[in-house]
Amino acid sequence: MPAFRPLESAAPEPAAPRDVAVAGMPLAFWLPLLTALLLVAVIAVGSWLSWQNGQRAVADLVGQLQLRAGKQVDEHLRSYLESPRIVVEIIAGALEEGEITPERPATIHALLLRLARTYEGISYLNIGLEDTRFFGLGRVDNVSRDLVIEEAGPPDLTVLRQYGIDTNGARAGLRKELPFSDIREQAWYREPLSADRTSWTSIYNWVDNPDVVVIGLGKPVRFGPGAMRAVVGIDLFLANICDYLAALDVSPGARVFIVERDGTLVANSHGNSRRRGADGPPQLRPVAEAADPLIRLAARDVQAAGGFAGIREPRLTTFSAEGARYFLRVSPWRDSLGLDWLIAVMVPEADFTATITANLRMTLAAGAALLLLALALAMLMARFISHPVRRIEAAAKAVAEGDFDTPLPRTAYREFNRLSQAFDDMTRRLRAAFREVEVAHEELEQKIAQRTEELREANDELERLSRQDSLTGLANRRRFDPDLREEWLRARRSGEPLTLVMCDLDYFKAYNDRYGHARGDEVLVKVARVLQSELRRSSDLAARYGGEEYALILPNTTADDARAVLAQIRSGMASLGLVHEASPFGRITMSFGIACHQAGSEFASAEDLLVAADQALYRAKATGRDRVAVHGKLEENVA
Ligand code: GH3
Ligand code: MG
Ligand code: MG
Repeated sequence: MPAFRPLESAAPEPAAPRDVAVAGMPLAFWLPLLTALLLVAVIAVGSWLSWQNGQRAVADLVGQLQLRAGKQVDEHLRSYLESPRIVVEIIAGALEEGEITPERPATIHALLLRLARTYEGISYLNIGLEDTRFFGLGRVDNVSRDLVIEEAGPPDLTVLRQYGIDTNGARAGLRKELPFSDIREQAWYREPLSADRTSWTSIYNWVDNPDVVVIGLGKPVRFGPGAMRAVVGIDLFLANICDYLAALDVSPGARVFIVERDGTLVANSHGNSRRRGADGPPQLRPVAEAADPLIRLAARDVQAAGGFAGIREPRLTTFSAEGARYFLRVSPWRDSLGLDWLIAVMVPEADFTATITANLRMTLAAGAALLLLALALAMLMARFISHPVRRIEAAAKAVAEGDFDTPLPRTAYREFNRLSQAFDDMTRRLRAAFREVEVAHEELEQKIAQRTEELREANDELERLSRQDSLTGLANRRRFDPDLREEWLRARRSGEPLTLVMCDLDYFKAYNDRYGHARGDEVLVKVARVLQSELRRSSDLAARYGGEEYALILPNTTADDARAVLAQIRSGMASLGLVHEASPFGRITMSFGIACHQAGSEFASAEDLLVAADQALYRAKATGRDRVAVHGKLEENVA
């Protein structure tokens, strides 16, 4: 059984899709693309959220740091500024009680020395009397620990005498004399006296050492029998507060500073709060001109929002300057003796964003690594999926080409295995269906062959019948005419003789008239049988030429041979014993005309031969009937 080729033998094959480039992108493109999109979205959202959270966390943290720093500064200021009050009270008490007296300077020296040694933050202790006498003890600057005793008084109020202190704590020899101004012109003396209570002075520079910036606390007292007025004072180095602020641990770029309401810088964590003028005494510096640029930025922000004077509650702001963001907290600070300051803590966001940025970078790096991994996995997955799909595709192609016998291999995926199974089932059914079609096809072909054969036979029969006379069974004109032409050509080619005999029943009209047409037909049949039986050669042909006329084609036969054949025919007819009372012969007779073509004869065509035979027949009739006439010969053969 030949391999069945369904597509070729069935409907015409559609345009072969396997040769056309298949449109669309492969799974190995889509799967990684979608995975990448998903992951990028997840990473972007994650990074954004973590950035936002980081920002919020920074704001919270900065707030806490500022609050803590503010509290620390507050506590430090309170404790740092508390000691001077106690010290001033002690000195004032001692003076009022008479424990120390200007009349015995040693008593003053002893107390002041004891106190200065006890309270390290104290820069200078002084007592100024109504009568312009001045007693002082303190450190010459805020760096040296060296203590000196200083005194001034009438008569020369412009000179300050500085003495060392010996090991017993007593005044030693004169060290130097310094220029001095009348105490009544000095802030520490004047201000508490006019206020008539313990109060802080403004911040001021030391006259003899302008680099030293201090704040003084003074207490007015009356003492002795004359109730002399005096001011007990103490100077505090503001540099100590600066040192403290500088030591505060807020954040690397943080700035902490303290200002007065008018914007004068009291102390700051960065840089010097003092400056030396180009041609004049050193001045205190307003915060807007602070040495540190960040502090200047902060001051500008506060100034832009209405200045320091109006701040009553802690004020929290963020501001941007030169591409960076800053958090600034300014809170008021007061004490019971009239100080009204502001503590400012400023933190640059950059101190924290570095961590956030690092976090973000790490997140992004991890995300990128994850993305690569996911892409690799997606590609692998695409391969895992497309591999069995390609197998199924190949199997489908094989089926399309008629191979039903290759089962699909099983994979690791249940879905594909189910698909493969369904595909195999389908293939099996297709195979069965095709077998059935094949069998049906073969049966059909057999039937068609059989029918074709039958049809051919029927056609042959029809053909035969169409060339046969229905009454006599002899050849009719349809066969006779081409046969004659063929024999004519053959005779011409071979040079053999060809004889044509035309035969016509005698007085047959009369026979019909006498015996009826049906009897006439019977005669025609019987005569035909005689003709047929007397022609022995297979090449001979007897035909019914029309009506009661016959024609005989006798190839390779001379006129004489034909005569002999006709003699047989005539005797055969005679022996039929067909009575014809209306004929002068009393029986059925026939007249014959012979024309013979031989080498050298005058016939140019088969038609010529026919005409000649007809003419001979005519002559046979004319000369009496029941005889044979040969074309070209005058003698007649009368039976
Ligand atoms: P002749 O001797 O001159 O031939 O006289 P005839 O009567 O035979 O004249 P003709 O050949 O002209 O006559 C033809 C007659 O043959 C006419 C018709 O009655 C008869 N005939 C022709 N065909 C048939 C046929 O098929 N059946 C029968 N029964 N008679 C036929
Ligand atoms: Mg006739
Ligand atoms: Mg006749």
